[in-house]
Order: sequence, then structure tokens, then C-alpha cells
Amino acid sequence: MLPGNNFIDYPQGRDANYTLFVKRDPLSPALPPSPVPGEPTDAFKPRLAGMLRALRLDVTYERGAGDYLYYRDEAGREVEVLDVVGGYGALLFGHGHPAIVAEAQRLLASGRPFHAQGSRRDYAQRLAAELSRRAGGDYRVIFGNSGTEAVEAAMKHAMLESGARTFIALERGFHGKTLGALQLAAHAQHREPFDVAGLNVVRVPVNDLARLEKAFADTADLAGFIYEPIQGEGGVRLLEARFLQRADALCTQRAVPLIADECQTGMGRTGTFLASEALGVRPDYVILSKALGGGIAKISALLVRRDRYCDEFDLKHTSTYAEDDFSCALALKTLELIDAPLLATCRRQGERLLAGLRRLAEAYPQIIADVRGAGLMAAVEFRPLFRSPGFLLRFLSAQEDLALVLTGYLLNVHRIRIAPTLSDRFTLRIEPSALLTDAAMDRVLAALGDVCARLTQADAFGLTRFLLRSGEKHRATTDTGRVDGRAFAYDEPRFQEQQRHAPATKVAWLCHMVDADDLVSLDPAFGALSLEEREDYLAQLVSRIAPVVMSAVDVRSTTGAVVRLYPILLPFTSRWIKRQLDARRLTPPQRLVQQGIDCAHALGCQMVALGQYTSIATLNGTRLAARGMGVTTGNSYAIALAIQAIERAHRETGRDPVDSVLVLAGAAGNIGRTCAEILAPRYRRTILIGSGRPGSWPRLQALAARVPNAVATTGLAAVGEGHVVIAAMNAVDAPLSARCFAPHAVLCDLSVPASLAPADAATRPDLIVIKGGIAALPGGEDLEILDFPLTRGQAYGCMAEALLLGFEGVRDTTFTGSLTPDHVQRVAAMAARHGFTLADYRRACVLGSEQKIPSYAIAR
Ligand code: PMP
Repeated sequence: MLPGNNFIDYPQGRDANYTLFVKRDPLSPALPPSPVPGEPTDAFKPRLAGMLRALRLDVTYERGAGDYLYYRDEAGREVEVLDVVGGYGALLFGHGHPAIVAEAQRLLASGRPFHAQGSRRDYAQRLAAELSRRAGGDYRVIFGNSGTEAVEAAMKHAMLESGARTFIALERGFHGKTLGALQLAAHAQHREPFDVAGLNVVRVPVNDLARLEKAFADTADLAGFIYEPIQGEGGVRLLEARFLQRADALCTQRAVPLIADECQTGMGRTGTFLASEALGVRPDYVILSKALGGGIAKISALLVRRDRYCDEFDLKHTSTYAEDDFSCALALKTLELIDAPLLATCRRQGERLLAGLRRLAEAYPQIIADVRGAGLMAAVEFRPLFRSPGFLLRFLSAQEDLALVLTGYLLNVHRIRIAPTLSDRFTLRIEPSALLTDAAMDRVLAALGDVCARLTQADAFGLTRFLLRSGEKHRATTDTGRVDGRAFAYDEPRFQEQQRHAPATKVAWLCHMVDADDLVSLDPAFGALSLEEREDYLAQLVSRIAPVVMSAVDVRSTTGAVVRLYPILLPFTSRWIKRQLDARRLTPPQRLVQQGIDCAHALGCQMVALGQYTSIATLNGTRLAARGMGVTTGNSYAIALAIQAIERAHRETGRDPVDSVLVLAGAAGNIGRTCAEILAPRYRRTILIGSGRPGSWPRLQALAARVPNAVATTGLAAVGEGHVVIAAMNAVDAPLSARCFAPHAVLCDLSVPASLAPADAATRPDLIVIKGGIAALPGGEDLEILDFPLTRGQAYGCMAEALLLGFEGVRDTTFTGSLTPDHVQRVAAMAARHGFTLADYRRACVLGSEQKIPSYAIAR
């Protein structure tokens, strides 16, 4: 029982008397079924649904009581979750407070109308008088339905009062997302697409007195100054009394209103009815919402000092729903609950919470950057772990997703609901109700302690294994990728340094993980999972991970020209993309590749090469928006290099092509076909092997008819007839077997992953296995492409092609789509001009096969 407050103390959903309010929602079973069981329909915010799903936050709460929410797990058992998100501040009295629920029921039972606009509205009258009294002034009150609407009303009133169009607001401020209120928001990503001409906002950094003075001095057309006493969405940042009092004085000097947005801070949450009181100001306008509705009603209020109120505003600002008896009566009931003991509880529990968080910050200074708060509004800011030995933690930090993943961990492992703020992605906000018990608070602190300990130990596996869903294999990923179009760097501090001096010409190479084994080289703890589980784990993360810029390397041509190469890693494996291709789901991979393109665009690239499966998934680059850059599949140079390698092998073995049989495995593809067109005329016989997939056989037959001495087949056994075999296959499971090859055959393997497994190849020392398509750079630069088996001075043909096209100033899509021998010749001529040559192919053979360089594991 909290001292002196009869309303507050009620059992948290476990008492028999309480069941009146906490029955299961009887409507749930009648909801129309989803097209896929357990899957939300895509008519409602599909991208958000995908994100919630990816982070395993997609639970359906069936009931709430006090600080607890309840959902059912797959077995139908009810799971209790401690909720300290608290409806983003709306739940000062928890979910379904009995007194407020009883008032709602009384109103409904009495037949009180919701809609009686244009009549005397007693509850609105009484509520207005009560709010004015509580706010300690003589105010007139306008009602609305949401916080942002009351902000709109405040802006309109201030404009009416002053005739001016400029507001002074604060950096990191947030006031809602309707068009007017959004103009005040500091967060550019939310605001920029919706900038409105004619409304001006000057933003001042929080607590910066000099900038505040300057803003007032420089603004002639001033309508008002708006602030949150504690910035909620901006990361729980407290205004200093000195700063706010100066703003108050400046407003008085200029006769413009001081506007307090107390949507989140008001109604006693911080220990005084308005947080502004504690800062020693009495605002001209006060905006209230959230807790005003008692956790049930949707209501907001704008209080305007009586001597400023413009009477015509009565009709200039109206809404069908505002002023309704239901919401106003619930707000009145809520105000009854806010008394001196309640305010004391908010202060006392807030101090206890803050003290606990500060102890954590002292214990983990390397993990927690800051702890902030007042009353029941607190935040923990985590440090970005750019230097953590855990790759994934570095990665999630760079992507600003660390706090979001921790949210998933806290829910799934600790059954605690907690969330980051809107525009401060490293900050978790804790906004519990005034009912929060000491035991529940200790539970939150212990869970955060566990998070800090795991982050300290770089236990990325422990913190993220909850992402794995048992029994849900190879889900179709409908939501793909993040939408913020940003480039994230593997090593952010180093990347920032490199970006300070970049040559004018920049190119990018898109790639992806070869397989989920890469995860283990990133973090050995993932060895505890099977390959399949690792694939599922990665597929689960796909929708949250943005492309990663792995390095930034300046490559020099023999002409002296310099081009910067950015290898950009996309967050999926060959197996994932192959699955999408096999199921004819091209959209998810294409969207991810497009993100890579957008990332290259953001980096100022003029050319992008499509590595690995990214060209196949985009039909050789024809399904992409190039954003004004050039795009190439990079295949022309890969072919040129393969041909050079084979020519060298012929010289070494002394066997003449005219006496040899050439086998092309994967001959119906773009690379295979072009190789056939160039090489078949030189060989005694050419065997074209196709996959037999629908559509490929007629193409293959047409090719066999067109090139000399060629036959088509779908049988891989034909590999055994080849003196020279070129493999350009899209298979992930090494379809060729060493046993099938003729003695002393040459295999030029252009496939990644390899078509012949390295261990298998090792059983046939007589074979010459060339990892095809690897170039030597004239300047011998190290491209620093993590976990890709390239030695210093080497580049894959497709990367090298991006560089060559960069040197040549090409900025178009000539090298996408269907290839011809002419493409190959042109790129080969460019290579000669810039000093690019075939890498030492025997070395390439060894490197390209068994050796994996676990460079991810090296913390720079
Ligand atoms: N102002 C502040 C200070 C807020 O915190 C919020 C909501 N987080 C709003 C305005 C907007 O309220 P609503 O979401 O009800 O429009």
C-alpha cells in the first residue's frame, strides 16, 4: 500500500476481485485468420511488422494489469511481462487501473453520450477548471485527442496571438508527428520529407545560454519558444533551471509565449504536477496528454494563460472527438489519483531507480555512457561498442541497433518490456508507473546488470541467440533490409578517418557472406549452432542489418590515376539467396542489393560492380535503379582473366587447344555462354553442360547450334571428357566431384562458393585447379576484404572491373545485362592500359580453396 493513497494500491492482476477487469479479450478468437498462420497480414505496417518479427518483439498482449502485460506462448501458456515502457508515459497508473476502469464502465452503463458537440459539456468544463488549478495559474483550456494535436493547437494559438511564423525550439526536441508539430522536431530523418514552407524553426542546443540569447536576438518574426522540461524522445535529457528561466525572461521581453510541452513529463510523473514547476517557471502555455487519459482515454489539453487567450480560438480550433464526456470524465478521475502522496511516490521511486542505474554505470563504465532521469522517467545510454572483441556487437553498434537488440533480449529472456527512445538509438528509456514495486524495480536493475555483464564479456551469442526460433526453418523473408539508406562501416572510427581524404573517383563492389560458417570465424561462440541454425539466425537478422562498408582502399593504376574502392557487404549468405532464387522470390534479394546500390550512391561512387550472387539475383543488374551511377556485373573482366589463366595452363602443360576438349559447366548462364562464344572456335570439341532448369535447355541448344564443334547436355558426367573444364555454376553445394575428372585435367572454377570442394580437389594432385577470375593489382594494394580469401595485391575480376571502369570514367550500365565477346575484349584492353594482370594462378588456387583467413576475428 502506498502511503495515503487509496486508489493506487491494487493487486497487480492476480487478485480474484480484479478479474472483473482482466478477462481475456473475448474478441480475439473471432479475428479473421491471417493468410499464413501466426503471420500478420501485410495490410498493416508490413515493414514494422517485419522488424518486430526479426527482433522477436512480435507478441500479442491479451491483457494488461498494473505494470504487467500478458501474452500466450506457442503452447498456450500465459506469459507475464513486466512493462516499463509504460505506454511511452501514458501509463502513470499502469494498465487498467481499477478506479479508472470503473469510471469508464459507469459512464458506458449510464448511457452518457460520446458525441454531443455544440452542447454544454460539463465534464470538459470541470476538467478545464481542474487543470487550470493544478497548473497553478489562470488558464483557458482547449482539448484535443493526442499530444501532437495539442501541440498544433499551441502553434496555431501562438501564431494567432503574434502574427508571427517563427518558433524557437530545442535540438533533440520532439513534439509529435502531425505536419505542424513535426516542423519543431529536431530529428531530421522524421522531419525532412515533410518540410513546410512558411513556418520557420530555429533550434538551440539544450542548456546553451549563448545560443539561446542569439536565437532570440536574431529572430524578428517570433511566435514563441517551445520546450520539453525533460526531453523524452530525445533521450531523457534534462533542461537546467537557469536555461529555462532565461528563456522565460526572454519570452517576457519579447511578449511571446513560453510553451511547455509536458505531454510526457506532466501529470506528476517527475514528482511535481508539471516538471516546469521544479525548474522555477510558470509557462504561458502548457500541453498535456498521455497520462491525462489515465491509460484508457485518448485526450490532450492545451492550457493558455487567460490574459493571452484569443476568444476566436474557441471556433478556430475544433475536432469532432475533442471535449467528449468519456475522455474528460476519465481525465478527471485520473487527476483525483494525483495527490501529494502520489507525487512523493514518484519522487522517491524515481530516486531509487536512478540510484540503482547509477550503481550500474559505476560498475560498468565501459558499457554505460550515461544515466539520466527525474522521477519516473529514466534512461540508460549505452556506449557504441566499436572496439568490442565481439564482431556482432561492433556491427550492431555501427548500425545503431544495439539497444534495439537488447530490447529483444530483455523481453525474450528476462520478460521485461523496455524500449529505446525515438531519436536516441543507444538509449533505453524506463518509464514505469507509480505502482512499480521495489521488487519489480530490482528485477529491472538485475536484468540490466545481466546485459552489462554480457556486453562486457562480448557475449554476442548469449545476447542474440533468442533470435533463433525453433521449428521455423528457412522462413520466407518478406521484409528485407532497413530503409534508412545509410552506409555503416565495419570499423567506424577508422572509416571516418579515411573519409577525410578520399580521391575524386570512387567505386564500390557489392558482395555477401559465402556461408553461415563465416559467423563462426566472426565469433567462435556461434560454433555451438549447426550450420542450418546459423543460416536461420542470419536470415532472422537480414531485415535489421544494413549494408556494411568493409574497407576503403585507394588503388593506383600504372597511369598514376587513383580510384577508391569500397567493398560493401550485404547481410545474407549464398545459401539464403539461392533459396530465394529457387523459390522464385526475387524481390527480397533485389531489395537488399538495391540497398547496397543506395549505399554506394551515398558514398559518392561513380561505378558499382555486382559481386557473387548479387548480379544473378538482379538478372545481371537489369533490375536495379542505378541512381545515376554506372553499374557492372563485373563478369567481363572475370571472363578475360579466366581465358588468360587457361591459356597459361595450356602453355604449361604443352597441350594445344585444337587437340583438346573444353567442357563448360553452367554454359547457359551469362558467363558460360560468353566463354563458349570466345573459346569454342579454338577447341577440337566443346561440351556445354546446363542445369536443366526450365528455360535453360532451349538456350543451351541454341548456343550449341551457334558455336562451332559444340554439343549440349545436362549430365555432369561429361566433365570427365574435358581436358579443360570451366565451371561457372550457381550452386552452393560443390556439385563437381574430383573423381569425375580426366587425368591431368585443368579446372578453372569461376563459381563462389567453389564448384569443386577444396578437400575433394586435394585428393587429385594431378589436376590443375585454378580459382578463376583473380587479378593482380599494379600497385599491390591490400583490399582488406574480411574473410574473403584474397592476398595482398589481389582482386576478384568483378572488383577489378569496377576499378578499371572507374579509371576510364565510365558511368553507365553498358556492362550489365547480356554479355558479348566485345565487352570482354574492351575490358581486357582497359586492364592492359592500367597494368592489371592475371594473378599468380597457382597461388590463387591454394588461397581460393581451402584457406580461410579469419580476419574478422582480428580486432583492429
Ligand atoms: N510531445 C511530447 C513531449 C511527446 O513525448 C509526444 C509523444 N511521445 C508528443 C508530443 C506527441 O504525442 P502523440 O503521440 O500523442 O501525438
